[in-house]
Amino acid sequence: STLLKATTKDLYPDWKPGEPVPYAALCTTFSKIEMTSKRLEILAHCSLFLRQVLRLTPGDLLQTIMLMVNKLAADYSGIELGIGESLIMKAICESTGRSLKHIKDDQNEIGDLGLVAAKSRSKQPTMFKPKALTVQGVHKGLMAIATIEGQGAQGRKVDGIKKLLSAADASIAGKAVDIEKDKGGPSEAKFIVRTLEGKLRLGLAEKTVLVAVAQAMIFHEMSQKDKVPSTADLAKAESTLKSVYSELPSYEVIVPKMLEHGIYNLPDNCRLQPGVPLKPMLAKPTKSITEVLDRFDGKDFTCEYKYDGERAQIHFVAHDAAMELATAAPQAGKSEKGVSNIFSRNSEDLSKKYPDILAKLPTWVKDGTESFVLDCETVAWDTVEKKVLPFQQLMTRKRKDVKVEDVKVKVCVFAFDILYLNGEALVNKTFRERREHLRSAFNLVEGEFAFAKFGNTNELEEIQTLLEDSVKSGCEGLMVKMLDGSESSYEPSKRSQNWLKVKKDYLSGVGDSLDLVVLGAYYGKGKRTSWYGAFLLACYNPKTQNFETVCNIGTGFSEAILETLHKQLSGIQIDKPKPFYTNSSGNKDQPDVWFEPKYVWEVKTADLTLSPRYRAAADDVSGGGKGVSLRFPRFIKERDDKKPEAASTSRMIAEMYQKQESVSKNKGPSADDD
Ligand code: ATP
Repeated sequence: STLLKATTKDLYPDWKPGEPVPYAALCTTFSKIEMTSKRLEILAHCSLFLRQVLRLTPGDLLQTIMLMVNKLAADYSGIELGIGESLIMKAICESTGRSLKHIKDDQNEIGDLGLVAAKSRSKQPTMFKPKALTVQGVHKGLMAIATIEGQGAQGRKVDGIKKLLSAADASIAGKAVDIEKDKGGPSEAKFIVRTLEGKLRLGLAEKTVLVAVAQAMIFHEMSQKDKVPSTADLAKAESTLKSVYSELPSYEVIVPKMLEHGIYNLPDNCRLQPGVPLKPMLAKPTKSITEVLDRFDGKDFTCEYKYDGERAQIHFVAHDAAMELATAAPQAGKSEKGVSNIFSRNSEDLSKKYPDILAKLPTWVKDGTESFVLDCETVAWDTVEKKVLPFQQLMTRKRKDVKVEDVKVKVCVFAFDILYLNGEALVNKTFRERREHLRSAFNLVEGEFAFAKFGNTNELEEIQTLLEDSVKSGCEGLMVKMLDGSESSYEPSKRSQNWLKVKKDYLSGVGDSLDLVVLGAYYGKGKRTSWYGAFLLACYNPKTQNFETVCNIGTGFSEAILETLHKQLSGIQIDKPKPFYTNSSGNKDQPDVWFEPKYVWEVKTADLTLSPRYRAAADDVSGGGKGVSLRFPRFIKERDDKKPEAASTSRMIAEMYQKQESVSKNKGPSADDD
């Protein structure tokens, strides 16, 4: 309630209506958020700030939100932060006149480059007061840094960072930074550097920002009628924005429409549109066919082959459709028929990887099909034997700048869902209806484009036979999906219990593999002394935004892989663990070297156990004492389609552990509450 009464003055005294949002005001809010771990308080600070932006400078709302979610543009734009430590240190050194040695020493002691920047800035004598930074200005500056390419790019990036740092902290320059008292306070230099690193470390989740935007908007709209929103208004605004964002995850598209039409009218003005990839629906793992039958008891479901390739979302708009592709990627496939894009599971543009798919796509599109968004799996294809090849074959394809004429590993696209067709979003239709739409709109071409094979059956033995057949034909198992009713709608970005995966290797062992982040390494023994012989892996905790250690791994690597990994990882070595690494403090448990969080590996395990050496899900499973750990972990492959923040979460690992425990105690699997 104190927050509700707060005014702009409390946020920043010099911010007047119509003036650009001062970056210092945003940093003051960041600093308040940093000082609390209570989710509701974080949300309140966030939404209060956005309310002020809406009241005073609504034109800056988009950039303010982007800085809050620590992104410069939507994921599909490919514009990313995450500038390396060494460039930032160079810029701090050059903009503050301190020696690189001092900066490195500080970094070793403090372990947060943001604070090092704040400290360096506060030690600088202030000759003149720089012009205050604005949110728009910082966003523009960061954008320029992130998009610099070509010759001398590194140097120009350093120049860009220096420019921002020299203008930072106009109002508090010269004041000492107190790390103990308030974690360095609202220093702009601190937040600029953390933003550049790609980690604000505020415990401010993207979902919280989304809720804050909804709250701020409804407060703003009602205040114009001298009203205050009720709890029901707030809930309606939240659910409206959440559902619009799940279909159209792009603030660039949503914010202007929201300002123009109001939040409740968003669904009529902002729906899924070709060109803006949505986050794919994900499946829950199951251990046995009987578990599937228990879950889907009495309902109609379908069992599709689970192809072992790469998830791909294909967007298309014909030239004569009364619309355009919302954002044509630079490499979008252009043909006589229309324009197409292909996106990864992470919404990255895959058009440079699959020009062959984009070239052939028009031949699969039936006349009369004007626009669509397809959910598919691209799978390596054996053109002689006419069958699918293992995932490893697909991985040998180049990732970028592929030329159609050079493609050696052919791919076949297996389409399993359609989310949009001829101007209409289909996500709320039943899966049975979507499947009919899918089948009506395309021509099948052997070895190029096919529909996922399936059988609609509720009989245990028939499902068993389907599973065996799918494995015989080179698939991983089955995807079991609800067919009818609202439960069968497409749920973007959700790991839903209405999609279950049954993999052949679930039938023994712990089941699903885990995707873990490499945090550190140990030098090898014997033949392996010049390379790393084992690695420290971690899962991700989205609540705290920390990486929690989960195991050491030294099995599953060939000599050739170890050599490649050494080359890859030595380039991202850092002197100290990052402050957002949660690891055991025991001396024995420290790796020889630490890395930036960058690579995600798929790992299999025999089972899960509790161990004081690791910290994964420790708060959930043992009140903080012991973490969950993998027994006999084995390296499967690198997951270059996953970012560290998309690694297996602590919660998933806690659930897997609890499920394993309850199964072993013969209680049956635990209830799924996701
Ligand atoms: P997850 O996506 O669940 O995080 P993952 O990326 O490791 O895990 P899997 O566990 O192998 O993937 O299972 C899900 C993936 O299976 C989908 O993301 C998709 O790429 C693939 N897939 C293959 N066939 C189908 C199908 N018929 N329906 C849905 N997905 C399928």
